[in-house]
Amino acid sequence: MRVTAAVLETPGKPLALREVELGPPRPDEVLVRMSSVGICATDLEFATFFEAPAVLGHEGAGIVEAVGDQVSSVSPGDHVAMTFTSCGLCRPCLTGSPAYCLRFDALNFTGRRPDGSSAVSLGGTEINAHFLGQSAFADHVIAPARAVVPIGKEADLTLAGPFGCGFQTGAGGVLNVLRPSPGSSLAVFGAGAVGVASVLAAVLSGCSVIAAVDVNPERLATARSLGATHGVGGGDGTAEELRSIAPDGFDFVLDTTGRADVLRTAVEALAPLGHCGVIGVGPSPEMTFDWRSVLNGRTITGIIGGGAMPQVFMPELLALQAAGRFPVDRIVTRFPFERIGEAAEAARTGTVGKAVLTF
Ligand SMILES: [Zn+2]
Ligand SMILES: [Zn+2]
Repeated sequence: MRVTAAVLETPGKPLALREVELGPPRPDEVLVRMSSVGICATDLEFATFFEAPAVLGHEGAGIVEAVGDQVSSVSPGDHVAMTFTSCGLCRPCLTGSPAYCLRFDALNFTGRRPDGSSAVSLGGTEINAHFLGQSAFADHVIAPARAVVPIGKEADLTLAGPFGCGFQTGAGGVLNVLRPSPGSSLAVFGAGAVGVASVLAAVLSGCSVIAAVDVNPERLATARSLGATHGVGGGDGTAEELRSIAPDGFDFVLDTTGRADVLRTAVEALAPLGHCGVIGVGPSPEMTFDWRSVLNGRTITGIIGGGAMPQVFMPELLALQAAGRFPVDRIVTRFPFERIGEAAEAARTGTVGKAVLTF
């Protein structure tokens, strides 16, 4: 079928709306007519180097239009959100941690199905797609059934997409991995969409001190309005400011920035026995720490996808959102799909909390 996709034609250049050919779903795949797709920092990063031509996008939500013969988890007409895919067969998958699938990179980041094919063709030639299980910058998407999560007809389809990546990642890092006890202290570094989801999860957990750290004062104001007890401006005075908020150090810290210098500050802000979650992926390939700052019983845990089982966690988060207890809708700005260039720029510069394209 002919569909419209935002195609990365040259890395580093804006995406271009193009008519592409989308093949039918294979036995284990689902065809989804898209309602919305969020723009995540990972899309913007991959758009600078991914092998073109390619279709990116990995926070899609929509309505199932067709399913392959072997698919029993969803049916045509179901409302769904999409997330990363996984093999379902390896030890991490079988023990409930599909984000740590042994084949995660091969299945999510090669632009191809495992057999080397692609569902998307441009001018008669297959192009890279299947990005994080979906390639959702298109009005129709082919996704493996494992990447498709039924969300019920009550969920807002113009909001549900980012629950498959950004919101799940930020909230899951707190609720699934750090698991702060009520009354504990937590500092979140970076108050973008992921950081805000972490702040909201800290509120849900009953943390008594929730510090948001960001150089952008508007983001800090948003984090404060959503439950952060302190806003810290980042920069040189950060360590001292955090020390004045939690003199013995924080019980938990979470880095969403991926910056090596920020991560070091985050670890050094921990109390003895404190736990640091690492979510952000940045340009620096290495992180370094003074040995004294980690020898003190501290733990550093890398986190992908919020450590979640998406089929369980995404509906839970959406139910919390519907109940007003996870109000991520307050940071969402919607754009028509045709304005993807403008939306991507707004996401890149941080003028919007979370950009969502609607179809
Ligand atoms: Zn993402
Ligand atoms: Zn696996």
